[in-house]
Amino acid sequence: MRYSKRIAFLFAIAFSTTSFSQSIYQSATVRSAFKKGTRTITGKPGVAYWQNSGDYNIHVNFNPATNLLSGEETIVYSNNSPDTLKRLIIRLFPDHYKKGVKRSDEIAEKDQNDGVSIEQLSVGNESITNFSNNKKAFHSNTNLIVIPKDMVLPHTKINLNVKWHYTVNTGSQVRTGMVDSGSYFIAYFFPRLAVYDDMNGWDDWNYNGLQEFYNDFGNFNVEIKVPFNDVVWATGERLGEEANLGPAIMQKLQQAKSSDKIIHVIDPADYATNAVINSDNTGIWRFKATGVSDFAFAVSDHYVWDASSVLVDSLTKRTTLVSAAYNTKHKDYFDVANQAHQSVYYMSHLYPKVAFPFPQITVFDGTDQMEYPMMVNDNPTETHKDAVQLTSHEIFHSYFPFYMGINETQYAWMDEGWATIGESVISPIMGEPEDEGIYSKTRYEHISGTDKDMPLITNTKLYEGAAYLSNSYGKGGLCYWVLQDMLGDKLYFKALHQYMSDWHGKHPIPYDFFYSFNNATGKDLNWFWRTWFFDWVYADLGITKAAQQNGMIKVTVTNKGGLPVPVYLTFSFDKGEPKTVHYGADVWKDGKTEFIVTQKFPNKITFVRLGNDLTPDKNGEDNVWDGSDKK
Ligand SMILES: [Zn+2]
Repeated sequence: MRYSKRIAFLFAIAFSTTSFSQSIYQSATVRSAFKKGTRTITGKPGVAYWQNSGDYNIHVNFNPATNLLSGEETIVYSNNSPDTLKRLIIRLFPDHYKKGVKRSDEIAEKDQNDGVSIEQLSVGNESITNFSNNKKAFHSNTNLIVIPKDMVLPHTKINLNVKWHYTVNTGSQVRTGMVDSGSYFIAYFFPRLAVYDDMNGWDDWNYNGLQEFYNDFGNFNVEIKVPFNDVVWATGERLGEEANLGPAIMQKLQQAKSSDKIIHVIDPADYATNAVINSDNTGIWRFKATGVSDFAFAVSDHYVWDASSVLVDSLTKRTTLVSAAYNTKHKDYFDVANQAHQSVYYMSHLYPKVAFPFPQITVFDGTDQMEYPMMVNDNPTETHKDAVQLTSHEIFHSYFPFYMGINETQYAWMDEGWATIGESVISPIMGEPEDEGIYSKTRYEHISGTDKDMPLITNTKLYEGAAYLSNSYGKGGLCYWVLQDMLGDKLYFKALHQYMSDWHGKHPIPYDFFYSFNNATGKDLNWFWRTWFFDWVYADLGITKAAQQNGMIKVTVTNKGGLPVPVYLTFSFDKGEPKTVHYGADVWKDGKTEFIVTQKFPNKITFVRLGNDLTPDKNGEDNVWDGSDKK
């Protein structure tokens, strides 16, 4: 860091934007972060910003015959915080299947087990063997709390060694487990450190199967041992794969790395002729991933593999290998490699218009609809439309939460909202528009204005059901669309790119997003953040007055629900085509509730309709005017 004029300039901005920060609510936690200088009201990380990280070296052995997964890992954990860590929180995600653990979902009796058995744990030089001692190490639902002999001092690293095993679930799949006889999607399989951050210190949240994740970034070196005939797909880049895959498969894989057409890297004939696996295969598959927040892998002894490459960065000519691995029984999957290819292309060049951040991504025919860095676990779908929307949605998560380290457990709209709008923008280009406007406009309308329609800023952990779905997906996605509609494409992308580049690889909170947009657009958008995120308001506009005289029409639109959404008015005439006029949501700035539209047309107006296919509206009955004077 340099103390230059640029820093002085940033301070000047900070000063001039002080009025921004005063007009949205800041909790004591948020104020404290600004005071400490880890975050700033410019929306950029503060000079005192820090985050911890963990590097994982993992050897894992998975045996589908017994469903036993055993592993050994070294974690190098960096405490970059100014704090001394007196305890460590280790997440044992597979304990979601442990008898007696608190869960948001039902796990069948037969899939409940004893959870993770820790065979060995050392923290620094200390070996810990007793895990029910509340002064040393103890379980708290899916977390293992450890109080090491040596505290972890600020700006130091500590090594942890863990040896563990557990039984992978064959049913009751919650984002992980057996897919069919011979295929598995395995996630959350290794003990890992929870996040310690500048906002809340240790994140002691317990995984219950509902909320998603919040992880540190780190580097992963992983060796996965499986039976001879199994193929492995995983997060990261393959190392030494010529020792695993047969020569003919290797040749096709090389071809796929430079082909923009889909290559059938493994097809059914390759299984029939025993060409898939190299005769010298040791069953150990190696992967390396840098700067990622998670690692997942998948195994199959019969899946086919389609792949191609996408030019993601026209400037550097960087490409991404895009794959689909699937069961040929699932016909919808025949097009998934193509959908994934197009998704990665449009994300890189159209929305969010940021080069795809990873060297590869694999969509695996699985049991869920869930994203991982460079991996997707997607169930087969009934229709082509569902496949397109699901594929584009899950791949879009590569940006949020994986390019940006979002705390999904707390602010799900900061990743699901983006995946929702991303899916809504990209699916129509692939010929499959959303049926209900943005993702679930009608679903949002349904709960809009009820006590489930909570302010977006509400901590995701505090709600479930319709409130969880609506706030995380539909309302989040709508908010981003309304913002783009209001700012215009140029300013919107300028702000989005500023936010993404400032917080890439970091942990942004909602205020970093708000202030980043304020700063990049040069606009005080606090009125917008306040109503969309903090107020109890809902989407409901209505035409409350209208009259035409001598070719002039005056329409009064009233914002009855209080949520700032755009105004689209479509005028129909006694002759000629209808005409639509549009005003951004900023017509409701600073709490205005009435907006008068005056327009002049050459023909007689016979009908006026308020709203469009994307704008939510709780009550559509007051959105029309039939030509008679309305007072
Ligand atoms: Zn999602």
